[in-house]
Amino acid sequence: MDEPIKITRQKRLFDISPEMANVCLTCGACSSGCPATGLVPGWDPRKAIRAIVLGMEQEVVDSKWPWVCTLCGRCQYVCPMGVLLLKTFRACRIARDRDKVPGPLQKGTDMCFERGNNLGIPKDDFLFLLADMSTEVEEDEETPMPGFHVPVDKEGANVIITINSKEPFGEPDDMIFWWKIFYAAKESWTVSSENWEGVNWGLFSGDDANMKIQCERVLENARRLKCKTLVYPE
Ligand code: SF4
Ligand code: SF4
Repeated sequence: MDEPIKITRQKRLFDISPEMANVCLTCGACSSGCPATGLVPGWDPRKAIRAIVLGMEQEVVDSKWPWVCTLCGRCQYVCPMGVLLLKTFRACRIARDRDKVPGPLQKGTDMCFERGNNLGIPKDDFLFLLADMSTEVEEDEETPMPGFHVPVDKEGANVIITINSKEPFGEPDDMIFWWKIFYAAKESWTVSSENWEGVNWGLFSGDDANMKIQCERVLENARRLKCKTLVYPE
């Protein structure tokens, strides 16, 4: 029997050192184009970087700042001194105690680890939904797709696609767009019956161990089914 996977979480040190204080020009280019500037009163990327280089990492970690930062990377792109702002703000998320991660982010990350998708949709319900929707799509009055069905666990398919769990949970019609494309292109494709989640919340919650496990599972699905192309729409 396979050994159960264990998660080892680690608090990572910041990728920025106090010496960076001499590198940052305090020019403010990072803040001027940042979509999150001002969302938390008193915070912007320049201030957060300055706080960190002056040794106030914990204040930044405990603040709301790292969680309103969208991790878009624009600040890092425009910084004339090459300060690793994006990496640093994500490191702040990693350093937050897991039970203090805001909102449902860590809950979804843990759920994905336990049940293979962020919302804990049971396998039977998922497969029933795909079969039911296949019939609906096949017999659609306006744009019928004769012979259509969602190919689950099809070995040797060219494409394997992941799914955002919010779709089977509450917006199932959104899956149909991809199905129509595959049908029109006569593509050989498939969906895995397990570990099919396409949104890796470990990236956003700062849970690197879980993020890696989810990536490995998705890749393992592709390997197991001998698919050449992995589509990760999210
Ligand atoms: S853009 Fe770079 S150099 Fe300018 S304030 Fe921001 S971190 Fe400092
Ligand atoms: S990565 Fe965060 S701090 Fe940088 S520009 Fe985007 S939202 Fe602002």
